[in-house]
Amino acid sequence: MIQLYIPLNFLGVIYREIKQSLTDLDKMFTLMLREREVADAPDARPLLLKGHGVQAAPSVRFDHVHFAYDPARPILHDVSFEIPAGQTVAVVGPSGSGKSTLARLLYRFYDVQQGRITVHGHDVQGLTQDSLRRAIGIVPQDTVLFNDTVAYNIAYGRPEATREEVEQAARAARIHDFITSTPGGYGTMVGERGLKLSGGEKQRVAIARTLLKNPPILVFDEATSALDSANERAIQAELAAVAQGKTVLVIAHRLSTIVNAHEILVMEHGRIIERGTHPLLLGANGRYAQMWRLQQAGEHGQGQLGPQG
Ligand code: ADP
Ligand code: MG
Repeated sequence: MIQLYIPLNFLGVIYREIKQSLTDLDKMFTLMLREREVADAPDARPLLLKGHGVQAAPSVRFDHVHFAYDPARPILHDVSFEIPAGQTVAVVGPSGSGKSTLARLLYRFYDVQQGRITVHGHDVQGLTQDSLRRAIGIVPQDTVLFNDTVAYNIAYGRPEATREEVEQAARAARIHDFITSTPGGYGTMVGERGLKLSGGEKQRVAIARTLLKNPPILVFDEATSALDSANERAIQAELAAVAQGKTVLVIAHRLSTIVNAHEILVMEHGRIIERGTHPLLLGANGRYAQMWRLQQAGEHGQGQLGPQG
């Protein structure tokens, strides 16, 4: 399951990390190092990699996880769930209930205070961060772009990708036409010091990046929340296609996109208050059923569920 890393390869990875960090020392770097620094354990081992991902999609487990950003204010309380290999688990719940925190913990931006998170049976705290993060693709709620070209930003998760591969991912994420409409095309500088993109455009760049990275674990954190409904529908279809056979955690703002999830978790105040499949939860006629009815009613009007964050 675990292979010893090859030092030369490891050095290459470190070099790439440092080089990338230097080009975008500002926002992303600060974001990643802010608060608690998470370090590799001295005996950390890599998740088995072949090419650019774990051979087969691995299972992901949260086992009685307790977490607080600040010890005085617990955020997650005894959260347990499993995403079986190649399955999708969806998380819904009001803003501030702890949904994005689950994504951050899986990516190991922070360590849990109690319990554990495993990937393919391995505690993430015993894995090298590099191998863990290579295996996971996150489309976050708020995408931070690097002060670099749009091509660099898309290829970030797979720097050796060819231009054709970058364009193919951009097309799938419905951002290619926008890119080619800018004077610099794929060479256009974006980010703080370049072309400012809208929330929806940034989200589509992040989706293109993840499609290109093509990792075995996918995390969509309200990945299409900033898109208009036509783009959202088109991209949902692409995301559904790429999610085939992968292990997926989807934080959903639109419930209609998760009706087929293996399990749906309803979170409130850092706790899972309901869980089950879509039909089971509708039958239970609780919080989820209430959210579903609200959203169905809303879709005739605004098409968006208000309190979802
Ligand atoms: P959701 O995604 O469901 O809206 P989050 O997981 O982002 O919720 O946040 C859960 C709680 O943790 C919120 O109360 C939020 O204010 C708090 N929180 C989120 N990020 C941080 C952070 N970096 N430091 C301190 N508190 C945070
Ligand atoms: Mg969130």
